[in-house]
Amino acid sequence: MHIILVMLIMLMTGCEQKADLPESQTEEQQSVPQKSKSIQMISRVNTDSIPILMYHSIGLNDRSTLFVPPKVFNKQMEHLKNAGYHTMTFKDLINWKTEEVIPDKPILITFDDGYLDNFTIVYPILKRLQMKATIFVTSDFIGFPNHLNWGQIKEMEQSGCIEIGVHTRHHLDLTKNNPLQLVDEVWGAKQRLEKRLGHPMIAFAYPSGKFNHKVVEAVKRAGFEFAVTTQPGYAVKKQGFLTLHRVRISRGQSMDAFIREFP
Ligand SMILES: [Zn+2]
Repeated sequence: MHIILVMLIMLMTGCEQKADLPESQTEEQQSVPQKSKSIQMISRVNTDSIPILMYHSIGLNDRSTLFVPPKVFNKQMEHLKNAGYHTMTFKDLINWKTEEVIPDKPILITFDDGYLDNFTIVYPILKRLQMKATIFVTSDFIGFPNHLNWGQIKEMEQSGCIEIGVHTRHHLDLTKNNPLQLVDEVWGAKQRLEKRLGHPMIAFAYPSGKFNHKVVEAVKRAGFEFAVTTQPGYAVKKQGFLTLHRVRISRGQSMDAFIREFP
């Protein structure tokens, strides 16, 4: 029995094995009595609001609030793990959208822009802790100095810890693009990433959080399931799945404040 529980917990929380929650729920119902620990880990009632954390670079640049120091980031991730949070990708979040089972204490961790330190610093920490995250990459900056390259992106994806999302082709203000540019930046970036990575891209992040009705329409037409903004707060369904809010984590935030926010 103990082995079965451990296996189920690994399936639902780790990132090395890609779990399909509804299926593991079925297996669980067949093999584990109802009052088991693993059943407490998942909630049938959908969590109304989910924190989607927004990071950019994990490094040592004290001129920008977009940089969170590696030691601080490591402590934050260890805290989330110890406090029982379950990291989800946007692929996992489909279950939230379709009113199916999602893990208890769900959280998404996202990184914008595809900086190199997402591979050198973030990825080893998440792999060690068996936590998942999504990196929104700007497709035409892949391989640029201080940015991820294709090899690193593929390696991270294959680990199951990292999901790749789309952050346009050139990180422009989409509200200022003409209709052709808009399609090229949104759909064009999706196409490029899908061709190179060999699977659909389902999540999008608006560069600098800038969007309007036309931009959201372009994201919808490109076929994304989810898009995230920089509007502050937890994600709730009534925001719309293409304009979900995020919680910005900045370098000035103390560990105490982080723990208070995510107890
Ligand atoms: Zn960005």
